[in-house]
Order: sequence, then structure tokens, then C-alpha cells
Amino acid sequence: MELQITSLNKTYSNGVQALKDVTLTIPQGMFGLLGPNGAGKSSLMRTIATLQDADSGTVQLGDIDVLQEKDAVRRMLGYLPQEFGVYPKVSAETMLEHVAGLKGINNRRERKEVVAALLERVNLFDVRKKNLGTFSGGMKQRFGIAQALLGNPRLIIVDEPTAGLDPTERNRFHNLLSEIGENTIVILSTHIVEDVTNLCQDMAIICLGEVIAQGHPAELVDQVNGKIWQKSIEKAELEQHTAQYRVISTRLQGGRTLIHVYSEDHPGDGFTAVPADLEDVYFTRIGERMEVTAI
Ligand code: ADP
Repeated sequence: MELQITSLNKTYSNGVQALKDVTLTIPQGMFGLLGPNGAGKSSLMRTIATLQDADSGTVQLGDIDVLQEKDAVRRMLGYLPQEFGVYPKVSAETMLEHVAGLKGINNRRERKEVVAALLERVNLFDVRKKNLGTFSGGMKQRFGIAQALLGNPRLIIVDEPTAGLDPTERNRFHNLLSEIGENTIVILSTHIVEDVTNLCQDMAIICLGEVIAQGHPAELVDQVNGKIWQKSIEKAELEQHTAQYRVISTRLQGGRTLIHVYSEDHPGDGFTAVPADLEDVYFTRIGERMEVTAI
């Protein structure tokens, strides 16, 4: 089964066109949807999750027409939105049992078993009796994943899951996501390149509502490999370099500024070649798109 999005368009009532002719094929496994804030990721995720309508286009999940057969999609969907409220005075266990009931697990014993297994899986079994209001950000995210996994969904959408998590919690969350079954489509929407590098076999980059790159991360990296050059400069030299070269990223390193530039040929001037990574792809593609808009 795969998710096929074709020519999807959405303009909000304030005139912002959040999705412009978005066409994407999302196979099983972990798919990274990468883009800066405001790119249209949440708009796309909410549309796939049947929470909002598109103006035109189609979304097909196997043989289900997602935009029309909303109930069928909801039965197969696990959705972890960017922000979700929890009932602070309810325990993780009670809440999950309640949601399990809503998802149609009616037998009490089965419900208890399913919930206990899920709590183990997301490493919250020991705190299952604690109220959700006492949970840290990472614990809430893991609780959210447990909730999303109830009912064995075939399509799982997680929107900006690691924003605000500390490195340990982020790592734990990554491990959890990567363990989700192979015959599931998992869409990870994020502005953090590293999340996609670590987790995803397939990906797309979206910017200003448009898909500007899609494919396997390694293939996308290959497309810019040999064209990324780095140089360590003084902060004061940055402006001149930005004027002269296509600077795609800058990073402070030991009090100096390490810049990456995109160039088909060796720029000379003290630059050295570096193997490209996904961050170089991301900044190169976003930079190209922004330049087009500026013109
Ligand atoms: P992302 O998730 O990538 O940050 P969004 O899908 O949230 O992007 O937003 C895409 C664009 O649509 C932004 O310009 C945002 O301000 C706008 N937008 C999002 N939701 C709404 C809404 N309900 N009404 C009007 N504009 C919106």
C-alpha cells in the first residue's frame, strides 16, 4: 500500500496559498517531510488526516479515496499532531483505555492487555498510574505515540515530534518511531534535518507550499555531492563572502564562522571540498526556491 497525493491545492480564507499543486508518492516505511516553518507541512498533514479539506487534488491510500472516504481513513490512521492537549488529572493508563474503547476494543480484558503492551513499548509502564499533567515533554510525546498506535494503524502521521525535546528524549523517541512496523506508512513532518537523516528511507522537501525535492536521502545528497565547499572565516568577512558566493549555511566553530557554499566548480580562495550531507541538500534547495521568490 502507498499514499498517492496528486495536485493538491489549498488556499486559506486570508489568501495564503499553503499548498501549491503538491504531488507526492509516499511508500511504506518512514517518510520525512522536511520544510521550514510556514512551508505547509501541517496543512498537508491535516488534509491527509481528514481534519481539513483541500480546494482541489486527490489523495489515495491504497484503494481508499482519502478526501471522500473519511471514516475509512480514520479507522486506519494514527495521528500525533504538533500540539495536543492532555487531560492533566487523568492517568496515562486510564486515558489509553478510554481511547482504546473509542477505537472499538470493547472487551475489557483485551483492552487492558493492549494498553499494558503499548505502555511497555513506549516505556511508560512504570508511570502508568501518574496523571498526565505531571509528565515531561518527552513523556507526553511518547504517550501521544502510544495513543496514535492504538488500533494498529496502517498510516501514522507525526507532526514536528521532537521540537522542544532534550537530546536524550529525542533519541528515545527516534528509537520508538524506528521500531514501528514495516508494513506501515509513517510520515514524519519536521524542520529538523537530523531527524530525517537518522530515520527516513524516503523524503521530500517542501517550501512555500511546493514540493521542491523528493526521493531517497542518499540520492538527493548525491545530486549536490562535489558541489559543496567549506571555509573558516572571521565573522567580519561573512558579508563579503555572502555577496561573492552562494553561501548555503553558516555555523560558529571555535569563535570563527564555518561557511558552506554551493558551487559547480572549485571556488579557490581557500575553500576546501566537503562531502555533502542532507543539511547541504536542504539549504541548497531552500536557497534556490527563495531566490526565485525574491526575483
Ligand atoms: P508548517 O506546518 O510547515 O509550519 P503550515 O501548514 O502551518 O506550515 O502553514 C502554511 C502557511 O499557511 C503559513 O503561511 C501559515 O501562516 C498559513 N496558515 C496555516 N494555517 C492557517 C489557517 N488556518 N488560516 C490561515 N492561514 C494559515
